[in-house]
Amino acid sequence: MTDSRYNVIVIGGGVVGLGVALEITRRFPRLRLLLLEKEDHVARHQSGHNSGVIHSGVYYKPGSMKARLCVVGAAAMVEFCREHNVPHNVCGKVIVATRADEVPRLEELRQRGEANGLTGLRLIGPEELREIEPHASGLQALVVPSTGVTDYALVCEKYAELISSRGGTILTSAAATGVRRLPNEIVVETPRGAFSTSALINCAGLHSDRIARMAGDDPSVLIVPFRGEYYDLVPERAALVRALIYPVPDPRFPFLGVHFTRRITGKVDAGPNAVLALAREGYRHTDISIRDLGGSLAFPGFWRMGRKHWRKAIDEWHRSLSKRAFVRALQVLLPEICEKDLIPGGSGVRAQALKPDGALVDDFQFVPSGKVLHVLNVPSPAATASLVIGKAIVDTAASDLGLS
Ligand SMILES: Cc1cc2nc3c(=O)[nH]c(=O)nc-3n(C[C@H](O)[C@H](O)[C@H](O)COP(=O)(O)OP(=O)(O)OC[C@H]3O[C@@H](n4cnc5c(N)ncnc54)[C@H](O)[C@@H]3O)c2cc1C
Repeated sequence: MTDSRYNVIVIGGGVVGLGVALEITRRFPRLRLLLLEKEDHVARHQSGHNSGVIHSGVYYKPGSMKARLCVVGAAAMVEFCREHNVPHNVCGKVIVATRADEVPRLEELRQRGEANGLTGLRLIGPEELREIEPHASGLQALVVPSTGVTDYALVCEKYAELISSRGGTILTSAAATGVRRLPNEIVVETPRGAFSTSALINCAGLHSDRIARMAGDDPSVLIVPFRGEYYDLVPERAALVRALIYPVPDPRFPFLGVHFTRRITGKVDAGPNAVLALAREGYRHTDISIRDLGGSLAFPGFWRMGRKHWRKAIDEWHRSLSKRAFVRALQVLLPEICEKDLIPGGSGVRAQALKPDGALVDDFQFVPSGKVLHVLNVPSPAATASLVIGKAIVDTAASDLGLS
């Protein structure tokens, strides 16, 4: 027995699930759409706990989905914010090389950015860097003019408002607890009733692999939670940062390294680091889930990742537990900063897919299975790219799930 029948159900009210639902209501206005969110409001996890940066697309491998969707998605996000009065600012950023071995990597980033279609990228020396960011220090820097900032929680609010105004239904406090695949329909069970649908799109972020298993599929990856912790600059010292100051990222990891972000509110924060969390929604050190931890330890790829990256993991934990170590990492970019300039800020937990061979999945990953589509890896820059990720997922759903 089901309470209601829909043409399509989306699980997950983060920026990706909402982006997908928004695109469905735009392209297929006559379909009955239901979005299920387990929390009492949308954007309670990654989408409401991120840096708020509209990434330019400079980092990603040319030809990858990340590169393609980020560059187009950043322009679409700026346009969306403009059209719907969501606060945003295309302030540009600098990526700063502070060691000699990072200088050639900066040139590689410039070439990569140009290959991805970015314009206006410029390598500058220390004097010009000081004109842009008077307190930053480095040997060379790459100016990325198209980077911006917004507030993705507000973007999600606006997506949700548009979905509802176009006739879509968003049901909160409605965790999907079971998925049954019957010959002509799929039934999704929640504490607020059971709902049947012809097509299901799983955008459950930190729980997307579990939803895939619930739907009878083998996702072949494990979602590993990486917590990103922030410090806030005390207001008296916020003037140390004009916009966005980033280090040159370590090419072996998908994270960008701790950086400074002047948010759309004017508040400046430093971070996020990338600490292996002990729970999928582990926003604090003390959040430990035996179920999550047990699942990770039982996955062969987790041990393989550990063998490859144990040193980095220890460094990240050390920086997480020692403010002094965190500040030392920041002083490389901003030598004047000291411990008393920083107060603890918030945190977010990234959903990162891990393969059985211990490799972190780099690109976005959408996996169709019959009338179900699983969105298994949508890390940064997915908030930036959410409008065009929505389009790409709906393209796949239209051909593979038969949405029409
Ligand atoms: C610290 C940090 C900094 C970042 N910085 C940036 C940035 O500056 N720019 C950028 O572009 N990207 C950034 N990202 C990445 C970006 O935030 C994510 O890629 C994006 O938010 C992913 O969106 P999502 O909808 O997949 O996930 P989420 O926002 O996590 O949404 C998934 C939703 O599914 C719901 N859900 C889970 N299980 C169920 C269930 N059983 N039933 C119903 N609902 C369920 C959850 O409650 C959640 O609301 C950052 C991420 C983090 C964590």
